[in-house]
Amino acid sequence: MSANSSTRVGFIGLGIMGRSMAGHILNAGYQLNVYNRSRDKADELVAKGATWCETPGAVAAASDIVITMVGFPSDVEQVYLGENGIVANAAKGTIMIDMTTSSPALSERIATEAAKKKCLALDAPVSGGDVGAREAKLAIMVGGDAAAFRKALPVLQCMGANIVLQGGPGAGQHTKMCNQIVIASTIMGVCEGIAYGKRAGLDLDTMLQSIGGGAASGFQLNVLGPRIIKGDFAPGFFIEHFIKDLGIALAEAHCMQLDLPGASLARKLYEQLAAQGYGRNGTQALFKFYEK
Ligand code: NAP
Repeated sequence: MSANSSTRVGFIGLGIMGRSMAGHILNAGYQLNVYNRSRDKADELVAKGATWCETPGAVAAASDIVITMVGFPSDVEQVYLGENGIVANAAKGTIMIDMTTSSPALSERIATEAAKKKCLALDAPVSGGDVGAREAKLAIMVGGDAAAFRKALPVLQCMGANIVLQGGPGAGQHTKMCNQIVIASTIMGVCEGIAYGKRAGLDLDTMLQSIGGGAASGFQLNVLGPRIIKGDFAPGFFIEHFIKDLGIALAEAHCMQLDLPGASLARKLYEQLAAQGYGRNGTQALFKFYEK
């Protein structure tokens, strides 16, 4: 019997990221309770031994640690604070970990509501994309109580390697916003570099072989660059989620009287793509602008 098998972990949100992340927790020997809006996305995990629960609250009631990886802040609010939600149904001492990219203010609110039930909430958004989730190599940026972080660490280590407590509630989400702000300008640069190489008549794979190993290297160039060259715009990371993230980052920046022209331009370009029906494409579909 695995040393982990006495800890009951709940996982809500089994999309591109959550399905892989929950799978690693199950493989590590934890008892796993799962829920997702569309039930079929849980089938594979249930076949491997996870237990299906009918509501987020039922997951919480059956788990010592509850993890969420849903889409938007409105989804987070619903699963934590809504009817049949996590906070209303969790037993005293439950640790709640939201890994969705969401608003820092909502993370603080959930931590406050959790504390009223004598529970602890962490915000723990991730970076590393679909590849990082599949390979359990996510960077996990955590905000919240240090003792809850220490207790949750073995479970977080099933999903990632670079796991850092950044501060109190909301600090994980603020750190993730720094990440998204960097990515916003980086992906524009990647698309412009590839568009230039194409116009110049270069062999694009050969071009990437050189610049992908130099100072321009990184996830956006080395993982998304080859997808752009192949014309593969399948998600990875949905454009509609990136618009959500840039909206949060720009609203927070506005409150801090900070101007972010790169992130503002990226949001404008992505909103135009979404208006043309590309919101469920991957973020590398920004290249469509530079193809014209
Ligand atoms: P996704 O594929 O849309 O997964 C989200 C899942 O949550 C879906 O399966 C969805 O159900 C479920 N869900 C949404 N609202 C729910 C609710 N109220 N109750 C129960 N389940 C609910 O998105 P993803 O790519 O995995 O991303 C998840 C989060 O991680 C997003 O906040 C995203 O910004 C962030 N993120 C993504 C990446 C990436 O590369 N993909 C990287 C880092 C962070 P349905 O199946 O019914 O839609």
